[in-house]
Amino acid sequence: MLLSNTLVASALIVAAQACTELGHMTKREAPAPGNGTAPEGPLWAYGATDGPMAWYNMDPEANKACGEGLNQTPIDLNQQVAKVEAASGYPLKYGKVANVKFSNTHHTAQVQVDAVTKDNTLQLKGEEYYLAQFHFHVPSEHHIEGEMFPIEVHFVHKTKGDKPKLAVLGFMIEVGCENYPLLNVTLGQIAQVEAPNSVAQIADLDLTELAKRFSEGQVFRYLGSLTTPPCTEGVEWLVSTQVLTVDVQTYNEVKRTLKYNSRYIQANPGTVNIQKAVPGGPKAPVPAVPAVPAVSATVVSDPAIAMTPAPVAAPVAAGGH
Ligand SMILES: [Zn+2]
Repeated sequence: MLLSNTLVASALIVAAQACTELGHMTKREAPAPGNGTAPEGPLWAYGATDGPMAWYNMDPEANKACGEGLNQTPIDLNQQVAKVEAASGYPLKYGKVANVKFSNTHHTAQVQVDAVTKDNTLQLKGEEYYLAQFHFHVPSEHHIEGEMFPIEVHFVHKTKGDKPKLAVLGFMIEVGCENYPLLNVTLGQIAQVEAPNSVAQIADLDLTELAKRFSEGQVFRYLGSLTTPPCTEGVEWLVSTQVLTVDVQTYNEVKRTLKYNSRYIQANPGTVNIQKAVPGGPKAPVPAVPAVPAVSATVVSDPAIAMTPAPVAAPVAAGGH
């Protein structure tokens, strides 16, 4: 109940603020002819044929976890599928970040911080995870008790060493009257990285207030995966109940630039992969061969009902964001 009250209170605060931008009609110009060339970048994306439903079949070996993993992300968060704990149990030591690189990776807008600071850490299960980068999804990838949010930001942390473990901290972002300060100097500058693969240097960041706000809320915690190929599992997820805001103009600019970069909701942790559960999904069970009548004089071989070989197990590739 405490969780629901916290979220409802956040929503009411946002709703109570009147925004003059709301209620106006805006006209969107049609794209100019000749702009249809695909930008350079990896093959996977978020469209009908290259989107999350296709990632597994694009490379069943490398992306095995996308279509077969039992602990995939994102999920619909609630108290039945994730632990809800005080965030103060996960010390977040964030400070200032200088020489910040903001980039459009073709899949997301990303702020790279690992090359310039070692001072931003997350303590989890007695281990220290270092902030490497943070990036944005439109709309949110996680849902909270069935509710989707306009944007979600992921702070990606890694342990030191050759085979780093990953911990990702997520915040939901709602549309409000003002930009949360950190989002003002990142998403508020998204026009600088409108073109795929572009990079811009933006103002220094101060993550101190974000860490304070995080510590005052609660977190959903569960063990999941990367939300992009190769969907590697073993990722520690913390999703904060503290909701941040961007103003309408910033939200529209973000939406125009990132368009849609969100993976659909996955099955609850520990249950069969959603792609195996839907008809036509990868490696869907082959229908049973009907019994041939004993009096039949000829046996017709039907390739459509031939049994397919069992999938070959392959190691799940590490990496991604
Ligand atoms: Zn992400």
